[in-house]
Amino acid sequence: MDQITTARPIADGSGKPRLNVLLAGPRGFCAGVDRAIKIVEEAIRRYGAPVYVRHEIVHNRFVVESLERQGAIFVEELDEVPDDAPVVFSAHGVPKAVPAEASRRKLFYLDATCPLVSKVHREAEHHFARGRHILLIGHAGHPEVVGTMGQLPDGAVTLVEDEEHARSVPVPDGMPLAFITQTTLSVDDTAGIVAALRERFPGVHAPAKEDICYATTNRQAAVKAIAPRAALMVVVGAPNSSNSLRLVEVAERAGCPKAVMVQRGRDLDLSLATGLGTIGITAGASAPEVLVEEVLARLRERFDVAIEEVVVAEERITFKLPAGLNA
Ligand code: SF4
Repeated sequence: MDQITTARPIADGSGKPRLNVLLAGPRGFCAGVDRAIKIVEEAIRRYGAPVYVRHEIVHNRFVVESLERQGAIFVEELDEVPDDAPVVFSAHGVPKAVPAEASRRKLFYLDATCPLVSKVHREAEHHFARGRHILLIGHAGHPEVVGTMGQLPDGAVTLVEDEEHARSVPVPDGMPLAFITQTTLSVDDTAGIVAALRERFPGVHAPAKEDICYATTNRQAAVKAIAPRAALMVVVGAPNSSNSLRLVEVAERAGCPKAVMVQRGRDLDLSLATGLGTIGITAGASAPEVLVEEVLARLRERFDVAIEEVVVAEERITFKLPAGLNA
């Protein structure tokens, strides 16, 4: 769609210096995060507290703490979950060994893996069934990467982390190859890595449809649209959130002189915006809008803030809750 800008000028007559804020649209929660949070809330409502959640349901402390207040208990591994409590798997996906172990222990579990991550899992299985070795483009140690690699036996998937790695990573002799990607990568970096793989392995099989999800793509496009006009980009997100980290990088590469990540409004150092005419604000896919409002409130402590929302894409996608939690 064409870029839409909506100006919401605020003149507070306070004598504070004027600060123009470009709000990236879309920003914040995606459909997969929204669904994962609803699964935990609905599980608490139906089955009562506590409901255990394996790993942060989404990478955001504010969200995790608000679910803790409702009765969620976050753990890193299944052996921390008692036999008689429900457990939810996070939006990032889990290795197959995790639901297998939950079934062995007869735990009641709900899988909040984003359907777009599950799609990548099914692609990996599809390639494996056809005898292909899989190259997974992603970040080592990220839970989504751990979950995707864990769909298949050890050795079936090789992780490719960057362009240089794509040019040198050893692959098994004589096997056809396919690549898949993490859903929250930089669109531009991934294009470079894919180009390097195609150059080295011209027959490599590609995903039928992009693995980087719509939410990642749209949030990066929105940041690119405002970055050249902003002297500072504030990314509301968490340091362990892949898509939030990518927004910081995308902003700087798209021409914004400085980009900072903040988790809460109070984290923003107001002196960074002093003397600037225009700044940008966005939020990672796991950051709720209330945190963007906190940042705006923080800015209003020192500035007369005028907001212009720049929307590059409308998102209407929603995901159903798992069977049993609907209705
Ligand atoms: S960022 Fe994309 S893949 Fe991850 S939860 Fe959101 S929609 Fe799903």
